[in-house]
Amino acid sequence: MDAREQLRRFLEQRREAGETELVFDSLSVDDAMRMLGAAPRQETGDRRQEAGKERSVPDGSRPQPAAPANAGDWRSILKDAGAAPTEKVASPVEKLGRYAMPTSPSVASVDSHATKPLEQLPDGIIIGGAGKELFGGTTKFSTLTELDAAVATCTLCPLHLEAKNPVPGEGNPNADFMCVGEAPGATEDELGRPFVGQAGQLLDKILAAIKLARSDVYICNVLKHRPPGNRNPMPDEVQACSPYLLRQIELIQPRVIVAFGTFAAQTLLNTREGIGKLRGRVHRYYGVPLVVTYHPAALLRNPAWKRPAWEDVQLARKLLDRAISS
Ligand code: URA
Repeated sequence: MDAREQLRRFLEQRREAGETELVFDSLSVDDAMRMLGAAPRQETGDRRQEAGKERSVPDGSRPQPAAPANAGDWRSILKDAGAAPTEKVASPVEKLGRYAMPTSPSVASVDSHATKPLEQLPDGIIIGGAGKELFGGTTKFSTLTELDAAVATCTLCPLHLEAKNPVPGEGNPNADFMCVGEAPGATEDELGRPFVGQAGQLLDKILAAIKLARSDVYICNVLKHRPPGNRNPMPDEVQACSPYLLRQIELIQPRVIVAFGTFAAQTLLNTREGIGKLRGRVHRYYGVPLVVTYHPAALLRNPAWKRPAWEDVQLARKLLDRAISS
């Protein structure tokens, strides 16, 4: 199939999945460049080592097609192919390390939603009333320990059949700040703990950047068992697993919730709006302020989103400070 057609289909799929911004899940920039007929960047030995694997480089004995003038800029190439996102993407924060988040507010853009008065932010989505009884007062699982035990023996969906371990969530049971991701990955499945792989290391840094330790917060996912091969969660799995998440929120009673990634955001807010539209607003989840930001795994693939993510977590921190001081 023609490379552009392949790319067009790939983007169509993404759009149908509700994504409004461009993230290549497993497609490297160089592979995308090759698909578009552009030469891959020449990698140095050091860089390849840093990436932890050797990539196949073109056979030097054969003449390679000349790289187009814009070969170094994958966004220009996508734009030329008619496939660039229409929204402006923030410029990469290149001086930051691979996983580093900005540590000083001075790097946040001046007009960011983190620095705007809360009243000036666009309205958020409101789910539920202000009450805390998400289950209408049911007494099921009176503690997180009971809930964890129920997750450990849960057979409500087939995910437990292939998962190695349940991953109910962990952290401070009285946390004011709650982080909700999508579903356990391979490392989480191995260890039975949420966000402990590469994305988890970045999450720890994101939290540290707003002066929160992992032990201060509660971290969990929408799904409590790993979908095989990290495939997207299915609607019936979400439906089966959602009561656990709702009860966790009910028991913990956080002052702020951060939904990391499109999936967690769309599930909690019961919407198909893309993450680009959900960021920069203060939503309410049964009265609890809820902020949406990019998933740390997406930040690993697209460092240009670290700056907007920094603004999002700054906003969450501001809400937390306000809630604590009130
Ligand atoms: N991604 C998630 O959404 N959750 C995890 O726990 C790990 C990776």
